[in-house]
Amino acid sequence: MVTFLSGGTGTPKLLSGIEGVFEPRETTVVANTGDDVELGGLFVSPDVDTVLFERGGVLDRETWWGIEGDTHETDEFLFELADAAGLEGGPRYLPDGMQTEGREIARWRRFSGIAEFMTIGDRDRAVHITRTSLLDEGHTLTEVTRTLADAFGLDLDLVPMSDDPLSTLIHTPEGPMHFQEFWVGYRGEPTIVDVEFRGEARPTEAVRDALTDPVVVGPSNPVTSVGPIRAVEGVEERLAETPVIAVSPFVEGRVFSGPAGDLMAATGHEPSTAGVAEAYPFADAFVLDSDDRTELGRPVVRTDTTMDSPTDATRVARAVREALEEVA
Ligand code: GDP
Repeated sequence: MVTFLSGGTGTPKLLSGIEGVFEPRETTVVANTGDDVELGGLFVSPDVDTVLFERGGVLDRETWWGIEGDTHETDEFLFELADAAGLEGGPRYLPDGMQTEGREIARWRRFSGIAEFMTIGDRDRAVHITRTSLLDEGHTLTEVTRTLADAFGLDLDLVPMSDDPLSTLIHTPEGPMHFQEFWVGYRGEPTIVDVEFRGEARPTEAVRDALTDPVVVGPSNPVTSVGPIRAVEGVEERLAETPVIAVSPFVEGRVFSGPAGDLMAATGHEPSTAGVAEAYPFADAFVLDSDDRTELGRPVVRTDTTMDSPTDATRVARAVREALEEVA
């Protein structure tokens, strides 16, 4: 049995190649839900969905979000309507008082759907409608995620990090904004002053069980993808007890993609593999790129960690397996 902690790009890439290295039926994926938002009344869970779509064979692998070949009729008409009505686009928060009303899971991340700021395809939207409807029928996020995973034919167990709300907020000189507002709405341009995980999230039984197995922290963003999972009550203690392998999302000081470097720097870490290692005291061994000469004082397995295809991912998965065998 093995457990992967996942965000929405680096770790899903790794998961695309685990066949023949890790048995999917003995694999659990704990997905970050700090990035989740409620948009126009629909609960969107981006990191869960990337794993869902990737393992379900329908992911748009150009963007690493959304469904390949999806249409965007609803999305386009939302923009036309907003234009015709003279309504401004961009992230539009629901009024302050409503941030803590309505669905509990959506606290601190409730946006209006006017000219919605995230691109949501028509099929993608059907997933959000199904998820939200099942939540409203009284099911937990874990139950709903497993139901969707069955619908997409997943062979591994995909669970959210918690059934409680935890919201990743980026503090900027203009004030706090939700991670999606910062990253999708404003293309990651605002200056990052600090990162806050708002809310108190308890681990589910599924997560508590999964963290008794060896854990792989995939090459996800250490701050906004792995950070929220670590902020769930008791997770840090469990990681300290179980064997943990971490794959670096950096090659020395170079990041593969996304805002991980800026986020690391803003939260007091060196934006590099050395910074990741320092931020992960629970990691027993690392998988680093062959070009990454960082000395860590912990066991390291090196390979080419660029993952452009499932074959690349399999190579990295083998390195993870090797690292695991060294420490477990
Ligand atoms: P997010 O939820 O979309 O931010 O995605 P993640 O947190 O899961 O992944 C973002 C991280 O993936 C970034 O820090 C990238 O450096 C890393 N990443 C993306 N592609 C690759 C790759 O091919 N290899 C490795 N090692 N890391 C990658």
